[in-house]
Parts: sequence; C-alpha cells; structure tokens
Amino acid sequence: LMKSLGRPLSPTDIMLADRLGEGQFGDVHKGILYPDTTEEVAVAVKTCKPDSAPEERVKFLQEAAIMKQFNHPHIVKLFGVVTQGLRTYIVMELAPLGQLRQYLLLNGESISQDILLNYIKQLCSAMVHLESKNYVHRDIAARNILLLSPDKIKLSDFGLSRWLEEADFYVASRGKLPIKWMAPESINFRRFTGSSDVWMFGVCCWEILMRGVKPFMSIKNDEVIGKLERGERLPLPPDCPPSLFNIMNHCWQYEPEERPSFTDIEQQLCVILEQEKHFNAL
Ligand code: ATP
Repeated sequence: LMKSLGRPLSPTDIMLADRLGEGQFGDVHKGILYPDTTEEVAVAVKTCKPDSAPEERVKFLQEAAIMKQFNHPHIVKLFGVVTQGLRTYIVMELAPLGQLRQYLLLNGESISQDILLNYIKQLCSAMVHLESKNYVHRDIAARNILLLSPDKIKLSDFGLSRWLEEADFYVASRGKLPIKWMAPESINFRRFTGSSDVWMFGVCCWEILMRGVKPFMSIKNDEVIGKLERGERLPLPPDCPPSLFNIMNHCWQYEPEERPSFTDIEQQLCVILEQEKHFNAL
C-alpha cells in the first residue's frame, strides 16, 4: 500500500489551519504545504483520528492510493500522505470555494445555465478518465464535487471508489450507501459497475441543473426502489435543454447494458453545448 501512496511527507512539511469539514475518519483541515524552503502551497488535509485502529488507518489511506492513479484537470490532486506516529494525513489540492452543492444553494439563479452545463461537461470528462482506467467512483453527487473557482469543478471523495480488476463489477459490503443516487441493481444487489456510475452521473446532473436540490427530497430511502421499478424518474429541471434531459433519461435506463458509456455521453454533450451556445447567441 505505502508504495502506491505518493510522496511520503513529513509532519514538519505541513502546517494545519482552520477546519474545513468532517470526513468519515476525522476532520478535514485547510493547511499549508512547504514542498521546499522557498515555496508554499495551500492544501486540504484529511486526517484520521489519532485513536483509530490500524485497520481503520489502512482503510483511510486506501482513498489516497486511488487518487494517486489519476491525473486529470477535473479530479482533485493528491500531494502525498503523512504516516508518522499517530499522525495519518492525506494531503491534497485545496478547493477554495468548497462543495459545489453549497455553492449552488447559496448562489442560485445568479449562476447562468451556461456555467451549469460547463460543470456537467467537466464532470463528464473526469468520468471518462475513471472509465478509461476501469475505476468506479460509487458516490457521484454534488456534495462530492468541489469548486476551484466559479467556473472550475473537480471530482473528489474517492472513499467508496474501487478498481474493477478482472471482474467487471464490485459487490459492496454493508454500510451507509447514497440510495437516492444509486442505480436499481446497486440498491437491490449492491452491484456497482461503470454503468451504475453512469446512472449516478445522471442524478448528479439533475442536482446541478436544480442548483443544489437533493433528488427524491420528499420520500424515504426505502421507497426509492419501488418508484424506480414502477418506471418513475426525476422530473425535468426548469430550463434544462430537452436534449440533455434525454441523455439523463438514458443514464436512468433500468437495464445497465442499455445505458450509454461516459465516452458516448461526452460526445453528445459536446453537440448540445455547441447548440446551446448558438441558441444563446441568437
Ligand atoms: P463523507 O463520506 O461523510 O462525505 P469523507 O470522509 O468522504 O466524508 P469528504 O466528504 O471528502 O470526507 O470531506 C469532508 C469535507 O471536507 C467535505 O465536505 C468538504 O467540505 C471538505 N473538503 C474535503 N476535501 C476538500 C478539498 N480538497 N478542498 C476543500 N474542502 C475539502
């Protein structure tokens, strides 16, 4: 595991500052990384509680091992890890504007449709990268997308991500799962594939177009699967181009084989964005 974790950092390379949020294993802090004597870089530091068991630490560090595999403009970058004494940190690129969902809720209508479509395009490009490396993210949602600047997002939170070795699916063990974002086969059989990521991407597009509204707000988790099996789906967001809603509905095909790949979606999005630009220019 250690070899796949990127550069080992010393605790003295990092200064911890304000708390940004809370993760599953411990607090997340803003910090400064001093890669050498002349440079300083603003970072986010995920910490693992000092009293956690060794197995927990290994699980915590798994996320860094996964992040290390990616090099993409729309995926949060890993700088390295600290594992010294009781200190176990994951050091990554800071997203100064925080979670996309909060940003959408706070700024609402002042964010143009153009910008929203761009977020979707950027997210899709990150997913094409994961797809090409045979990874499933398993938790694509607006709460797991971070903002670097008002027009640049990055996918984060690889805590549930897995590499699909020879098998082409991953069966999750019990645990908290984001039911309202999940494909029917993930809810029913805990089965996760590239196609279930495609379903989740569709739900995440819906959240973005709804400017931060959560999917299936008014129903309980255990009512979701019944609704999906009766063929019900999330409604058309206001001002959503019908061609885009059409893609989203393809992402929500009941049968995983009938859903498009991220490469397909990327091509279709390219056409839609061009059309929208043209339309808006008229
Ligand atoms: P959960 O699974 O409960 O979401 P987690 O262990 O996966 O928790 P994250 O969601 O990744 O942890 O991080 C917790 C919070 O810390 C996030 O909601 C976000 O607000 C903040 N955060 C995480 N990474 C960054 C980052 N790179 N830049 C800025 N803020 C971040």
